[in-house]
Amino acid sequence: MLRVAVVGSGPGGCYTAQSLVQQDPDVLVDVLDRLPCPYGLVRYGVAPDHEKIKSLQNNLRAVLEHERVRFLGGVEIGPGGVPADRLRELYHAVVYCVGAATDRHLGIPGEDLPGSWSATEFVSWYSAHPDAVDDGFVRGARSAVVIGVGNVAVDVTRMLARGPAELTSTDMPQAALTALAASRVGDVSMVGRRGPSQARFTTKELRELGTLPDTDVTVDGEELALDPAYADPSGLPAPQRRNVEVLRGWAETPPHDAGHHIRLRFFLRPVELLAEDGRVGAVRFERTVPDGQGGVTGTGRYEDVAAQLVLRSVGYRGVPLEGLPFDPASGTVPHLAGRVLREGHIAPGEYVAGWIKRGPTGVIGTNRSDAKETVTALLADASVLVREDRPEDPLAALRGEGVEPVEWTGWCAIERAEAELGASLGRGVVKLPDWQSLMDAAHQSTP
Ligand code: NAP
Repeated sequence: MLRVAVVGSGPGGCYTAQSLVQQDPDVLVDVLDRLPCPYGLVRYGVAPDHEKIKSLQNNLRAVLEHERVRFLGGVEIGPGGVPADRLRELYHAVVYCVGAATDRHLGIPGEDLPGSWSATEFVSWYSAHPDAVDDGFVRGARSAVVIGVGNVAVDVTRMLARGPAELTSTDMPQAALTALAASRVGDVSMVGRRGPSQARFTTKELRELGTLPDTDVTVDGEELALDPAYADPSGLPAPQRRNVEVLRGWAETPPHDAGHHIRLRFFLRPVELLAEDGRVGAVRFERTVPDGQGGVTGTGRYEDVAAQLVLRSVGYRGVPLEGLPFDPASGTVPHLAGRVLREGHIAPGEYVAGWIKRGPTGVIGTNRSDAKETVTALLADASVLVREDRPEDPLAALRGEGVEPVEWTGWCAIERAEAELGASLGRGVVKLPDWQSLMDAAHQSTP
């Protein structure tokens, strides 16, 4: 009987497990995760106010509760945990679905000034990731700059503009709620280096900015018009055309003097973060113009935008996992239809799916077809893989080596503790934000 380890319990990992049990009536799947909690970016990346997207957890839950799937949380693969080689000895096949765990860098002076953060760090904080640092973020800040115009940029911009009433009903941790509720950030500029027709956000997410209570969204029509497609967007693909139309509507709407002001800016590329009293005080941008090939060129004209908080939202990036090949240029593992390639040759029994396979693009559902491709390759190899001797139960072998995973009952105990915490605060479910409280809660499930 085929035994497969799936490393990572985010959408990539869960859809891989689902595809395996759907396509093979006998396979047994262990889904391992470094964290004691499942769901990856659905739990720790989807914005807390996006309840509908978060409810996808229910679908992922059904996968992890499948009778031939086991969730094994709190198990690190790599140095300090279970080496990749050892995992390969315990299972007939291993599918790495480890995502893209870090953020891209801008590589400009001042990037690391206090007050400048990657959007990932900010998202991790308000999503209660146990590795997040709580460093004030909004404390003392009146204006913020968000660099980048993708969906993560829209998420963090929206979270900065949300008022306490809208945040209280989310599952965000109490400390982040308290800090954001007391935030004095009134002005948020979200800035793209290219034009409105090249922005990466999706129209639904963009439009939502215009529905936020007590918030003005402004765009400068003249800046938009630097984009040759602005005057006549009819030749653009539908998603970009719709974005341009939404932006045009805002350009034509006067602001209402609301409490929050979101400014969408384009054709400005960040060149330096400027310090003021030892922390970030402004971002210097160079005005760009289209180069006619989808890119931009600098004009030598600069504009400083004041900001005591800077969130760099320029995309995620995969990190190498010791024991697995890695292509630093793309931040992914080299593969052929999901089969890991070592120096150009297929490595038997090793697979990838999700962002570590294709890079940090697409929406959650994109992982379904991606996982299916990998699982199809794996099952085509299964008759050979299954001939290799493997322990009867890899979990018993892991335990024998001192690994104590948080099993599904442990995760359910964390869920109960989060519901209890929320009730004690007069809120709905409230996430536990640190390792200690998560592990304490998980262990309540064991006698
Ligand atoms: P993204 O979509 O790749 O957007 C990155 C943004 O950063 C782009 O505007 C890019 O501009 C800009 N950028 C990159 N390097 C830059 C630099 N050196 N200087 C200035 N700007 C720079 O990444 P993301 O927003 O992190 O999203 C990742 C994935 O998650 C996407 O597929 C996204 O759709 C998905 N996601 C979806 C949702 C949702 O559905 N609600 C929410 C969050 C995330 P250029 O285009 O010029 O490179």
